[in-house]
Amino acid sequence: MALIVQKYGGTSVGSIERIHRVADRVEQAVKEGNRVVVVLSAMSGETDRLLKLAHEVAALPDERELDMLLSTGERVTISLLAMELRGRGVDARSFTGRQVGIITDSAHTKARITRVAAERILDALERGVVPVVAGFQGINEHSDVTTLGRGGSDLTAVALAGALKADRCVIFTDVDGVYTTDPNIVPTARRIDKIAYEEMLEMASLGAKVLQSRSVEFAAKYNVPLEVNSSFKEGKGTLVKREDADMEAVAVSGITGDRNQAKITLVGVPDKPGIAARLLGPVAKANILVDMIIQNVSHESLTDFSFTIPRVDVNKAMPIIQDTAKDIGAKSVSVTLTGCHPLTARAARSTADGSEVDSAAASEEHCRRAPRVRFDLRARRRAAARRRALRAAAAGARHLGRVHQDLDRRAAQRRLARRRGRGHHVGPDRPDRVPQGGG
Ligand code: ADP
Ligand code: ASP
Ligand code: MG
Repeated sequence: MALIVQKYGGTSVGSIERIHRVADRVEQAVKEGNRVVVVLSAMSGETDRLLKLAHEVAALPDERELDMLLSTGERVTISLLAMELRGRGVDARSFTGRQVGIITDSAHTKARITRVAAERILDALERGVVPVVAGFQGINEHSDVTTLGRGGSDLTAVALAGALKADRCVIFTDVDGVYTTDPNIVPTARRIDKIAYEEMLEMASLGAKVLQSRSVEFAAKYNVPLEVNSSFKEGKGTLVKREDADMEAVAVSGITGDRNQAKITLVGVPDKPGIAARLLGPVAKANILVDMIIQNVSHESLTDFSFTIPRVDVNKAMPIIQDTAKDIGAKSVSVTLTGCHPLTARAARSTADGSEVDSAAASEEHCRRAPRVRFDLRARRRAAARRRALRAAAAGARHLGRVHQDLDRRAAQRRLARRRGRGHHVGPDRPDRVPQGGG
C-alpha cells in the first residue's frame, strides 16, 4: 500500500465540474489500495481576485491581513472536495494549514516552512481518512496565518510528502508534465520524461511556474520523489528526481520567462567595492527577494546597476531603494514592470525546432528597441496575450502596451485579408490544451 500525496492546482479545481473530476481520481487511488493525502489550491483566479480586492482598499496592504485574506481561497476548495468525497462514501476531511501543523516563520506573503508537525494527518491516515489539505498556508509562532508565496501549494504538497515520507508526490496541473519551455506559449515545446532537481530548480526559478521554485528546492533537500502530470488526461508526465546517468547526457534544458518580475535600474552609480551590498542589504532586510543582478562595465568610474524583484513588492521596495540610491550618489532610478516573453518565446521556438541554445536572456531594452514585436501564437493564446497586454498597459507598462496595439493591427490586417478572399488560416488549438491559470 503506497502513501501518495496528490496536489491539484487552481485550474484543476476551477469549477464544481472539475472538483468532481478530482474526486474521481482521489476515489480511484483509494480504491487501488493507496493511502492518499490531497493538497489543493484555490480555484483559478481566486487568489488574484482577493489580491485585487486588497489593493482596492490599500495601496500597500498590511501583509498580515493580506495573508488572512489570501488563505481563504484554499478553504473553499478543500471543503467542497471533502463534501464531494464524503457524498461518495470516501471518508475525507478537510484541514487548514494550521490544523495540519505547517509551521512557518513570520515573513508574511512569502513565509518559509520551519517545521511540519504532521501528527494530525498521520492520525487521520491511521483511521482510513483521506486528509484534504489547504495548500499555500501555514501559521507562525504567534498562530497568525501566513502564506508561502505564489504557487505555494506545490510547497505544501512537497513538505507534507517529505514529512510523511510519502512514496510519491504528484503535482496534478493543466499540462501533462514539464516541457522544454511553456507549452502554452510554444506549441512545439517537448515534454521532458525526467529531469534532475537542480535543472528543474533552475527552470522554476527563472519563471517556469509549473512548479514553484521553493517546492523544488525542498524536494531536492529531502529527496522527495516528484511527478508532474495532467489532471485532465491520462499519460506519463514528468519525473523530477536525483540526477541519474541518462540525465547527465542531456545537454540542454529549457527556456523560461517570468512576467511577474520588475527590473529596477540605478543609473550612474559610483563603481566602488561594496556598492551591491549597500544597495541590496536593506532590500533583503525587508524580505524582498532579489533574483537577477546585473552590473555593467564601468565608464568613467560610474556604472549602471540592475536587479529584479517580484512585481508585487515594487511599492514596498521603491522608498527603500530611493533612499539608498540617494546615499550612494546614483543619478537616477528606473523601474520596468514587464517581463520579456516575446523574445524569449522566439528563442524557445528555435530550440524546439532543434537548434541549440545554451542560455537565452533578453532585456527589456531589447524589447523596447525591437521595431515590431511579432507574435505567432494561435487564437486562444493571442486572446490571452491581449488580455495580459491590456492589464499591463493599464498598469503603465509601455512595451506591452505596444504589443497590444500590434496585436490589434495584425488582427485588423487578417480581417482585411479574409474579406479580400486571401484567407489567413488560424488552426484550432491543440485538442489536449486546457485553459491555464493559477489559483
Ligand atoms: P497550477 O494552477 O496547477 O498550479 P500553474 O499555472 O501554476 O498551474 O502552472 C502550470 C502552467 O505552467 C502551465 O499551464 C504552463 O503554461 C506553465 N509553464 C511555464 N513553463 C512551463 C514548462 N517549462 N513546462 C510546463 N508548463 C510550463
Ligand atoms: N492559490 C495560490 C496562488 O495562486 C497558491 C497556489 O495556487 O499554489 O498562488
Ligand atoms: Mg502553480
